[in-house]
Amino acid sequence: AKQAGRHQVCYYNHRLQEQAHKRAELEEGIRLALEQQAFRLVYQPQFDQQGQLLGVEALIRWQRGEELVSPAEFIPIAESSGLIVPLGYWILTQACQQLASWAQQPATAALRIAVNISARQLQDAQFVDQVRHILLASSAPAQQLELELTESLLLQDLPVSRSKMQQLRELGIRISLDDFGTGFSSLHQLVHLPLDQLKIDQSFVAPLGQDTKAAAVVQTILDLGDNLSLEVIAEGVETEVQYQTLLKMGCEQFQGYYLARPMSLEALEPLLQTLKIQ
Ligand code: C2E
Ligand code: CA
Ligand code: CA
Ligand code: CA
Repeated sequence: AKQAGRHQVCYYNHRLQEQAHKRAELEEGIRLALEQQAFRLVYQPQFDQQGQLLGVEALIRWQRGEELVSPAEFIPIAESSGLIVPLGYWILTQACQQLASWAQQPATAALRIAVNISARQLQDAQFVDQVRHILLASSAPAQQLELELTESLLLQDLPVSRSKMQQLRELGIRISLDDFGTGFSSLHQLVHLPLDQLKIDQSFVAPLGQDTKAAAVVQTILDLGDNLSLEVIAEGVETEVQYQTLLKMGCEQFQGYYLARPMSLEALEPLLQTLKIQ
């Protein structure tokens, strides 16, 4: 038994060493990719009830040679290493430049772009100033920039989060609460935050049509949005059944593979061509 135990320890040490090595290697990779501009953004469309394009969520992609590294893999490392701060400003800059370019064409002028913001980014003392600077430098319309924050992020330091959110909204920026419903946070605290939108997490959307409890949760979030005058968007809409169920429940905004996948700007172009001038 003693022998086996020692063997196990060696095995775990080895595993830990491997993990540490992988992390260090990814961290170095992120640093290089930032320098070499190897990241790009893809855009996933968001639609209203009539199927009209409302805007897009910007999602980062890292093509590392042959391999497409998932953000689920490298974002956590960018966060723990602090590299998410410069990477996040790069993402915001790209998104704002795109917004500014759309703003110049009547057909695309009303489109909005949602950008994901990590806890570590919001914690940066310069965050609000940097966002203001990026908006000014790009001359993007602030009203069409939406920042997606998560519950767990905001609750880490609620008074500071609230104050930063307030300052961002004073710039005209919209704020969406991403993955809503997964954080088990106090509704009392959440409803007192300056928000524009709730984003229903895909875990509640996935079972729609099969699970009446999931439907009850979705309906509750839709009612909450109604009562608080917040927009509500459902994400992860993958099937006709989910889409129809959401429509029947009164959901007004949709995002998911059933409607459109995250795509490059070039791939988005045909969709933009169909937009009517507002
Ligand atoms: P998220 O913010 O919850 O983003 C939604 C994820 O769901 C995206 O994965 C999107 O591609 C995927 N998705 C969209 N529609 C569907 C669908 O119908 N079914 C399913 N199963 N999935 C769908 P992605 O792009 O791999 O991003 C994963 C996570 O990585 C994001 O989750 C977000 O937390 C983070 N992330 C992605 N881009 C950025 C970024 O630019 N900045 C930061 N800070 N985080 C990012
Ligand atoms: Ca998001
Ligand atoms: Ca989400
Ligand atoms: Ca998520």
